[in-house]
Amino acid sequence: MKTITVYIGKEDRTLAETFREFYEPYAYQGTLEGNLRESRKLKKETMACRFCKKSRAETTFSQDTHLISKLLGKNTYYSHDECDTCNQQFRLFENDLAAYLGTSRVFNHMIAGTSAPGFESANGQIKIKKKNDLIWLEKKGDRHDDLKIDLKNGKAAIKMETQLFRPENVYKALLKMAMGILPEIDRPDYNAGFKFLLHMENYPELTCFKRALLTETDIVIARPFAQLFKKLESVTDERFPQHLFCLSVGNLAFQLALPGHREFHGTTLQGYRMAIAPYIQLNSAEPHDGVVRGRKVEDLRSTEQKSNDHSMHFEFPTENLAAVQLDFDIGELFKNKS
Ligand SMILES: [Zn+2]
Repeated sequence: MKTITVYIGKEDRTLAETFREFYEPYAYQGTLEGNLRESRKLKKETMACRFCKKSRAETTFSQDTHLISKLLGKNTYYSHDECDTCNQQFRLFENDLAAYLGTSRVFNHMIAGTSAPGFESANGQIKIKKKNDLIWLEKKGDRHDDLKIDLKNGKAAIKMETQLFRPENVYKALLKMAMGILPEIDRPDYNAGFKFLLHMENYPELTCFKRALLTETDIVIARPFAQLFKKLESVTDERFPQHLFCLSVGNLAFQLALPGHREFHGTTLQGYRMAIAPYIQLNSAEPHDGVVRGRKVEDLRSTEQKSNDHSMHFEFPTENLAAVQLDFDIGELFKNKS
């Protein structure tokens, strides 16, 4: 078994103590290590899809499928038991997750030498691109005030709404990754959970699971990682779910409870209790304290389209302001590498 040393900021230590009375680390998946060859090899031997349970005779396994969505950052870790049909389906949900994250995917892009995904506001008036330390903001057209810069007083305001997304699809994208790292031995216990992921409309009693605890931090991580926690055997309170899933991406960490466990199904009608996992810093060589900005619960039940307000306001010093004539085409800089 591989051991990972992590750091927990001082602000989260009490939380960590409490959490450890209920849960223990169970599975981990980073996105740094590549496994394309192995996953392709394993895929040839896969008998059935982890998600829809269809056999090779009923579906195909020819696509390379990411365990953690590549929209959350370039990654080279692939799964071997997701069929092509499910992959197509989940890709749609991942687009909603990307829209939900909005500007965060641009500003928190950390991998040097590669361009961040671009952002375009819902009305198409503001575009943002980032490469290395350079952030390029483009305002389309003059007849709107989505971008206001007051050079005299040193103030700027950018009005931005993310592209539309369906909260329920954001939840599905997160849940798919959670079910994706669930070890083989636990899968039979989650038959209802897998069915719920594919056909939520058939499981109204599990609706209360469609939410995520969101932790926002001052730390930005370059590559996403996911963890699964398992309830300790000593915990007899049935209101605590068997497994919790945590996904760290950029400056955010999502936490959700895995729905539809065989032994837990009946208690969900009374509601479940969520122990809050501490924010885990993988880079224990460079520990930080006081990085957790806040936590909130995101309600992801709605199937109606909405957008997040990612407007920004900032101030800048006005002395020594200078306009610079760039001697190169900035558009080309972003074009040459995808
Ligand atoms: Zn499938």
